[in-house]
Parts: sequence; structure tokens; C-alpha cells
Amino acid sequence: MRAGQILKQSIKSKKGLFVRTLLPMRVLILSDIHANLEALDAVLAAAPAHDAVWNLGDVVGYGANPNEAIDRVRELGHVFVRGNHDKACSGVDSMDGFNPIAGRAARWTRVVLSAEHTDWLRHMPAGPIMPDGPDVSCVHGSLLDEDEYVLTVRDAWAPLTKARTRINFFGHTHLQGGFATNGEEWFRITPQYHSRGPVEFELPLRNNGRYLINPGSVGQPRDGDWRAAFALYETEGSGDDALRRIIFYRVPYDVKHAQQRIVAAGLPDRLASRLKEGR
Ligand code: ZN
Repeated sequence: MRAGQILKQSIKSKKGLFVRTLLPMRVLILSDIHANLEALDAVLAAAPAHDAVWNLGDVVGYGANPNEAIDRVRELGHVFVRGNHDKACSGVDSMDGFNPIAGRAARWTRVVLSAEHTDWLRHMPAGPIMPDGPDVSCVHGSLLDEDEYVLTVRDAWAPLTKARTRINFFGHTHLQGGFATNGEEWFRITPQYHSRGPVEFELPLRNNGRYLINPGSVGQPRDGDWRAAFALYETEGSGDDALRRIIFYRVPYDVKHAQQRIVAAGLPDRLASRLKEGR
């Protein structure tokens, strides 16, 4: 039996204070929902019990349900950083860097968003933010530039070397996993899954390590796996004795329905077809 299973069993069989002592904090990490309501609902149905939700941006853009996606995430918590699509779809930024398909989707989103949701998107904070003390940061792109893509170990070097925080959550690439260093060696983190259903992959964090962790994209994964991606961050204790770990998840969702809604909305067909390809 894996440690994760033992932990979950203790949560089920114990109540109240004991659970809080055993697990001081469990945070659901979401990123790049991209107005995909079917994927978001599947993630929320599958997510283990948690104390908080941290959202790494791009709630909207590409998908057919931006208003509904915003309503859902606003109910979940208040820790958000903005993504490039959140900015473009609310007029905070232009669509200059967008390809024609992304631009069409952003223009469509601007039209259908309610005034209240547009205003909410406009006031999302720029990352990085530190939602939990001196150890942890959240940003959409890179710690050094919220719009930059961190795709390779080379890309990860500067932000991880310069960051004040050891554990850093990011999104933007739609690739689940991330990067780690112990100061000498550098690693790429790639969750390995061996089944087609709901799956999880556990990553214990070392206390001398520095991490860039991407929970993957809820609504438009691009790592060849179409299943919705998310992560859970667990901490227990503090200082050098702290136990910290990430659990990455993939869950199947009603991708056909999400595709139908994209086509029915008049959004580009490619935005529907890519969902099932995970590209
Ligand atoms: Zn995105």
C-alpha cells in the first residue's frame, strides 16, 4: 500500500481536530481551465478533500463556458493569479501575441462575458503571489515574467535560481509536471501513469530541493493525454522537519460534450478537435 492510500484511510476513519493535526494543509491546485466546464466539473468531483484552492490563471479563453467557469472558481476560493487569456479576454492586454485561432476565441469571449465577470478578470492579481508564507509562490508563466513559458530545464534555471521561494507553482504550458534542483543537479518532473481511468502520481518534496510544479491544464491539456489535469499540495509540520508532497491527477471527462459546445458556439473547430488529442 502506498503512503497516499494510508493517509486517505486515516482521513476517512478519523474526524475533526485529528485530521487538522495530521494534515495541516491540503491545497487543490488548478490551472488553465480555459472555460471548459465539463473538465472543471470532473476535476471538482474527483478532487480529494482540501482546505484551499489556488488558481494559476487562464480561467477563460478557448472554451465555450467562460461565465460558468468563473462562477464555479469564485465559489471555490480567493487565491488567483491572472493568465494571458484572462488579460486578453478582459481587455487588460491586447491580443498581439495570440495566433489567429486564440485571437478569435478571445474576441468571442469578450462578447459573451458578463460585465461583472469582465470586471472580476480585470482585477485578478499579476503573479507571482505568495499565498502561504515565505516558502511558496504561484504564477501563471515564469516567476520572472508572468507571460513567459517555462518548457525546458534551461527555461527553469533562471527562475528557480533567482526565486526566493522553494516551492513554486506555475501553469501556462499546459504540461503537467515541472522541474526541480538540489542546487547541483537539475531534473524534469514527468508523472508516469499506467491506466486510462482516473490516475494519480505522488511526488514527495525534499527539504533541500527547489521546485517548479505545474499541475497541468484542467481544460486543454497539451501533453498528449486528453484527461483533465490537476494537483494536490500537502504539507505537514514546518521547518526542516516538514513533510511536503505533490500528488498529480488525471481524470477522464465528457470531452464530447465540451467539443459540441465549442462547435455550437461558433468557435474554431480546431479548439474542439484538439481536446481529444491532448494537444
Ligand atoms: Zn493557458
